[in-house]
Amino acid sequence: MALLFHCEWEEGSKILQDLSAQIPDIDIRIWPDVGDPAEIEFAVVWNLPHGELAKCSNLKAILSPGAGVDHLFGDPDLPRGVPIGRLIDPLMADRMAEYTASLTLWAHRKFDEYAELQSQRIWQQVTQKDAKDRGVGILGLGALGLTSARCLRPFGFALSAWSRSAKIEPGVACYHGGDSLAEFLAGSEILICLLPLTSATRGIINAAVFDQMPVGAYLINCARGALVVESDLLTALDSGQLSGAALDVFNEEPLPRKNPLWSHPKVRITPHVSSLTAAETAAPMLATQILQVQCGETLNGRVDPDTEY
Ligand code: NDP
Repeated sequence: MALLFHCEWEEGSKILQDLSAQIPDIDIRIWPDVGDPAEIEFAVVWNLPHGELAKCSNLKAILSPGAGVDHLFGDPDLPRGVPIGRLIDPLMADRMAEYTASLTLWAHRKFDEYAELQSQRIWQQVTQKDAKDRGVGILGLGALGLTSARCLRPFGFALSAWSRSAKIEPGVACYHGGDSLAEFLAGSEILICLLPLTSATRGIINAAVFDQMPVGAYLINCARGALVVESDLLTALDSGQLSGAALDVFNEEPLPRKNPLWSHPKVRITPHVSSLTAAETAAPMLATQILQVQCGETLNGRVDPDTEY
């Protein structure tokens, strides 16, 4: 059985090593040393150049070593009909929850304002709301959004979430579908984005969205940069419609040095680290997915090609 592997992250070589240990008889071909593409049955790939998967005529599954699959659906030659799997990893959800909770508390307790006051040596107490009066909205209540919601719940925030299909989650006001987006946004003083990047969500966070949020709202985007219209974000920050933004993901990564977000006083930047894949959990999950396909079982984390997530 031949498997095509391509993942340029630092953790990639560890995933590769662990995967070979999990399935010792597997013939791993590291792109671009593919050999005969017709022999490839499985692909574990991240950001593989477009058109490469289409050369593999006998693929049984395409697996993403991360939670997102937008890197696959961005390929215009993505083979149709081949099952696609993604990672649903509780460790990654916990890592993401640490990030979203940290930044939510940062925004809620106005640490940006205190940093600014400190830079001027001003001893001033800023008015503070209680958590129960702070609306925190989560865009996307999937594997990551749900864990973040549960992590934030004990603080007592007025939590809400928006997804495509209806949900019920204790302590979270659940909205779904386009018709309810305005109501959801109106209550989101802190908006956490954990949506997948798909044809339906690209550019979804734009001027119209910012205008529907309370004045002075705060954006935390740790999903994908292209969900946000960057020029609209800058306008909203400059006008005061948004009081700040914490951004982990960008339209172009690494974020170009000339990008104005780098030096914007209201923006906190991290380099796509909110929840990195961990080889220790990812490799066994990938091995399980491969075995599931070989045994004709349902693939864990199977992606719906119609919705692209
Ligand atoms: P899931 O697929 O589990 O959840 C996605 C959520 O978004 C679901 O609640 C889904 O609704 C909702 N959704 C999708 N499309 C729409 C839409 N058109 N309108 C309304 N809601 C929609 O994904 P995960 O939680 O596992 O991951 C989310 C994203 O986080 C990934 O796609 C990835 O891009 C990003 N990510 C970023 C990382 C980082 O380090 N920065 C690390 C890992 C992931 P429903 O429940 O109804 O289907």
